[in-house]
Amino acid sequence: MSSAYRNAIAQLDNVTPLLKSEYREHTFKKTITDLKKPDKILKKTISIKTDIGKRKSFLAIRSQHNNVRGPYKGGIRFHPQVTVDEVKALSFWMTLKCALVDIPFGGAKGGVKVDPHKLSITELERLSIEYAKFITPHIGAKKDIPAPDVNTNEAIIAWMLEEYENIVGKSEPAAFTGKPIELGGSAGRTEATGRGGLYVLRAYTKEVKSTPAKTKVAVQGFGNVGFWFSYLAKKAGYKVVTVSDSSGGVYFDKDIPIQKLLQLKKEHGSLEQVAKVKKYTFLNPEQVLSLGVDVLVPAALENAINRANVANVQAKTILELANGPITPKAEQELIRKKIDILPDILCNAGGVVVSYFEWKQNLEKEKWSEVKVNRDLKKIMNQAFKKTHQLKVKKKITYRQAAYLLAIKRIANAMMKRRL
Ligand code: NAD
Repeated sequence: MSSAYRNAIAQLDNVTPLLKSEYREHTFKKTITDLKKPDKILKKTISIKTDIGKRKSFLAIRSQHNNVRGPYKGGIRFHPQVTVDEVKALSFWMTLKCALVDIPFGGAKGGVKVDPHKLSITELERLSIEYAKFITPHIGAKKDIPAPDVNTNEAIIAWMLEEYENIVGKSEPAAFTGKPIELGGSAGRTEATGRGGLYVLRAYTKEVKSTPAKTKVAVQGFGNVGFWFSYLAKKAGYKVVTVSDSSGGVYFDKDIPIQKLLQLKKEHGSLEQVAKVKKYTFLNPEQVLSLGVDVLVPAALENAINRANVANVQAKTILELANGPITPKAEQELIRKKIDILPDILCNAGGVVVSYFEWKQNLEKEKWSEVKVNRDLKKIMNQAFKKTHQLKVKKKITYRQAAYLLAIKRIANAMMKRRL
């Protein structure tokens, strides 16, 4: 298994030579050294009482990567493959992402090594509360603001906020984002990552002089991000040919409403089961990645496209909605094949942008309409794509290199102003 953190550092090393001449030696060195190491890693074994009265322990982590541009910001993941290495990488990408879309946050990430599907709802609640207890001394609206990620959602965030506020003894909704609307959540937050990805795809489609109707799209991952992206892309006129979860994908040789698939997945457990029951055409996970489509959208986990399967990728463009879905070795091969890669720190930034809107609404005691949220999100995503595209063309580099350069420059400039 490829190390996510090593991959993240390889991506950084890939652009540092392009940056060196622009800064004083001291600033340049300090920026790169700081970015290679999180400011702080918090680790603890937390334990809960199970429904049958036994105790179960889990590794809990929070990585606070960098806060020169604003408070630490990043989601919390519940997954059996969570490791310190993975959480570090995810926190690094958050720092770059917030800088690229120019919102006043640094980067963080949290995780618990657990298979939440093996817990009852009451055990999940207890685990969320224990995690909140663990991070409470280190977070806050002006310090570090957690949010949902893989296998966590607004209900889990609500439990954590409740525990946090009980401990600190005051109401502080801006300490978490991704909350239910009733607790200070923002309109449009749930679908924001998928919607932001669609804004990037639309801008790119125009840039390559194509249209949604001519663009075939395959999506890997059918959770929050994959579902909303597929649903909105189809609505916007893109030809979504498959959506898939870890069991594999349903191929759309007939029209199937994406909301209906979500409902069927809830009833039958997996898309493989849905395909069996409904007699839909089914693709195994590797077939999903090797379809001859215009745009392949990995929206599941890291390292989905790697040395073992990269040769099968036939898509013309990859839009990264998952964090770190392509290993550096696989990326080299894709670049050789002239496949455009629209990078994660750009494409999936919609979630943290609307988290920023949520935080702002909480601090300013405001409620924005969904129309305003989507309009402002579109403006930020379009601007970030435009700047990235212009730099890519000007310097004849890849989209990822351009996005990294823009982000690192903003971080280095903030460091200089602080005289670090
Ligand atoms: P989620 O838990 O809602 O969904 C994950 C999905 O991935 C599930 O459908 C699961 O079946 C699928 N999956 C897992 N392994 C797979 C495999 N091997 N093949 C195909 N599908 C597989 O998580 P999410 O919130 O949708 O996050 C997905 C990705 O997007 C993650 O990389 C996450 O870090 C990133 N992301 C999420 C947000 C957000 O707002 N939720 C924001 C930015 C980035």
